[in-house]
Formats: sequence, C-alpha cells, structure tokens
Amino acid sequence: MAKDIWIGDVQNGDHDGAEVELKGWVKRTRGSNKIRFVVLRDSTGTIQCVAKRDAVGDEQFESIASALIESSVIIKGTVNVDERSDGGHELIVSSIEIIGPVDPERPFPITESAMKAADGGETEFLLDNRHLYLRTSRMTTMLKMRSSVFGAIHSYFRDLDFIEYQAPNFVAGAVEGGSTLFEVPYFGRKAYLTQSWQLYAEAAMPALERLYTIAPSFRAEKSRTRRHLTEFWHAEMEIAWATNEEVMAHGEGVVRHIASTLLSERSTELEALGRDLELIGRYADTPFPRMRYDEAVEILQGKGVDVSWGQDLDYSKEKILTQDFDVPHFLTHYPKIAKPFYHREDPTDDKYVLCHDLLAPEGYGEIIGGGERTWSEEEILARLAEEGTSPEAYQFYIDTRSYGGVPHGGFGLGVDRVCSWLSGADHIREVIPFPRDSRRVTP
Ligand code: ATP
Ligand code: MG
Repeated sequence: MAKDIWIGDVQNGDHDGAEVELKGWVKRTRGSNKIRFVVLRDSTGTIQCVAKRDAVGDEQFESIASALIESSVIIKGTVNVDERSDGGHELIVSSIEIIGPVDPERPFPITESAMKAADGGETEFLLDNRHLYLRTSRMTTMLKMRSSVFGAIHSYFRDLDFIEYQAPNFVAGAVEGGSTLFEVPYFGRKAYLTQSWQLYAEAAMPALERLYTIAPSFRAEKSRTRRHLTEFWHAEMEIAWATNEEVMAHGEGVVRHIASTLLSERSTELEALGRDLELIGRYADTPFPRMRYDEAVEILQGKGVDVSWGQDLDYSKEKILTQDFDVPHFLTHYPKIAKPFYHREDPTDDKYVLCHDLLAPEGYGEIIGGGERTWSEEEILARLAEEGTSPEAYQFYIDTRSYGGVPHGGFGLGVDRVCSWLSGADHIREVIPFPRDSRRVTP
C-alpha cells in the first residue's frame, strides 16, 4: 500500500508521458456526464485529473462523479504537460478507486472558502471543525512553515554543540508568577504545570554548560489575546559563563537562522502567504539594534504614552516601540521591580537587572525574554525575600548555587509567536494545529 510518488514530484519532475498511481483526496470536481475534472490533493500539492466515461467505464465514472470533496482515492493515469492547468501538468485517468468515501448523511462545507463562509466572521466554527480546517491550503502552509521553524531552532543549537535537555512538566513552583499557574491535583497534593524549563535547566548547567529545549509551557492566561495561548511551544536555552550580551547574541543568531531557513526551505509558502521575501531576507541579514529600558520609556513618554518608570511594558507599548524599527530590536536593563527574582541585578546599578526582551517588528512585539541569572546563593535568597516568595519550592534551585555556582544566562523564545510573526498571521491560533486558550480545550 506504500505510496511511491507524490503530486509535488509529478508537478516539478520529469514524468511526462509516464504511467503513475496517485494517492490523495478529492479537492474539487466538476464536469459533465461524459467527462469529469477532479482536482486531487496530497500533502505536496494538487493536480487536475481528467476522467472520461469511455476510458474508465460506467461504474468508475459514476463513483467519481458522486464522490464528495475530501473522499480519499487512488487514481492511475498518464502524466500530460498542460500549460493551462495549475502546476503545468494534468493526469489522463485510466482508473479510479474510492478508498475512503465521505458520508453523504453528514453534509459539510469543507472547502476552504465554504469553511470561511460558514465561519461568518466567527472563528469558533473553524476551531470546532479543526480536523477539516487543517486540510485547507492556508493551514497546511502554516504547518509546513512551523516544521521548518522547529528544524531551524534544532539545527542552530546543535551546530553549536548545545545539548537538548528535558525538564519535568509537573512542578512544585512558579517561574513566571503565580497568577498564570495551572494547578493540578497530584495524589492528594497540589502540583503545577510548568511555565518554563528554565529552573531545571539551570540545575543541569554545571553538568552540560550549553543546553536547549523545545517543549510546551503552560500558562493560565485569562485574557484572550492574539499572542497568548495557554499551552505554547517554548524554545529555551541556558549557557554557563555567559553575559547578557552573549545570551542576546544567541537570541539574535537563532532568529536570523530561522528567517534564513524559511527563505531557503519555504519561499513558496512565504509567497503564498503574501509575505515579502526581501523583508524576511532583512531579518536574516541585518544586525538587531539594542536599546535600554530607560530610553524606551523616554521614547514612549515623548509620544504621549502614559507610562512611568518601573512598569513592565505591555503589548500596547511594545507595539508603539516596534514602529521605529524594521528589524527585531532588543530592550535591555529593565528595572528590578518589574522582573522576577531569578534576573541578575546589574552590579553597576542595583535598580536594574541584566535582562533583555526581543521585540519583533511589524507591530508584533515580544518574542524572546532572557538575561543573566542571579547566581550566588546569597543574592538569590535576598531576591526571594525582597519579592516575598517563600524559598521552599525552590530549594533544589538554591542548592545549585551552593555547589560551585557560576555566572550564566539564557532565554525563552515563543515558537508559536515567531511562526505567527514570520508568516504574517493575524492570530497566534492560526499557526498551531489545536490551539488552547482560556475558553477552549476541545477538540
Ligand atoms: P508576555 O508579556 O507577552 O506575556 P512574558 O514576559 O510573560 O510575555 P516570558 O515569560 O519572557 O514571556 O516567556 C518567554 C517567551 O515565551 C516570550 O517572549 C513569548 O515569546 C513566549 N510566551 C510567553 N507567554 C506566552 C503565551 N501565553 N503564549 C505564547 N507564547 C508565550
Ligand atoms: Mg506573560
């Protein structure tokens, strides 16, 4: 039953005049009582197949004439060059077999445009019928882009000898603040779903020195925004002996590598999404500027934005800042009061921490948060006390400082956010197959 030729091969290769067997799904059909044009789809593309009653016989002709969209079929025929048809080739059909029919009792608008029309401006319909929406060309394109983004992150870190390392998903404490913790019952106790791999990566930093992961993180984000999921894919790295500058260089490196990988692997998909390849090329080639938090606040105040020193910068403010840049830019040195305990104080001025956020342009905003970590036991206890956080849940973390602590740092990159920004999606849920937010855990 194995499949030995894909539609993409037929459209791009040298198969003219060859007899082939194509396996796929019916995307569209039209025609008369004598001839049917079937657009066949597989994961690599589409091709028009021309079935004549004379050539395939009455029984096969009737079966394809009545086959509903998304029926799975095996079609044999001869490849023919046809400049007028999409992709430049068509298949002259010699036989058709319906493998998995679509139940006519469940009439369903499953073409892309019908799905959109039925959606009527509400995305709930598309989300409820996600398994069908995944088959549309837009979603298929997004999923291919996504795969290349994951691949690029792995290759960036592996080429630099980082070790891929896994942390538990059930944890005892918060990384990013208690308000977005998911609590789960755990055999009579309470546990939480992890918000980040970081603390457990720091525990392995003295063993591996250069670590990374791509894993889900969970945050109970109550407000539904275009940039937040409750379960998202988090690419995180941790590196020993590194300064904030060095960690930023890796953040910049990985984002540029993602952009150049998309250009080389997915230019067709980028164009299908209406993306400007020159713009993506700029993200791959141009150095990312850096700006201190204080300067950002001044710029915002200069633009009449209501913001005071010490506030974290939310999306509305990030969006305004990104308007002055045409590539991603870093914001560094946030006030200590705006950041959690693990951010290292700036030894030259203890009002600040040695951290960074990377803001994507085109009004997108934060895609990376990172920095140097508080690494001495003394400092970490002081930071926890300042924050009013009990050290109990973090004892293993504090211990790592007591046994040969060293300066180190790392960052977290929101993979879905990067996919969303680079593909020009309106909403983060467009780039993940089964999005999770405060209202939805199904299907
Ligand atoms: P934001 O302020 O936008 O909520 P954050 O400061 O909470 O982000 P970090 O804790 O620094 O984010 O997490 C690192 C990265 O993970 C972020 O830069 C972002 O790209 C991504 N991220 C964080 N929360 C989410 C989420 N709920 N959904 C998708 N991606 C997220
Ligand atoms: Mg957040």
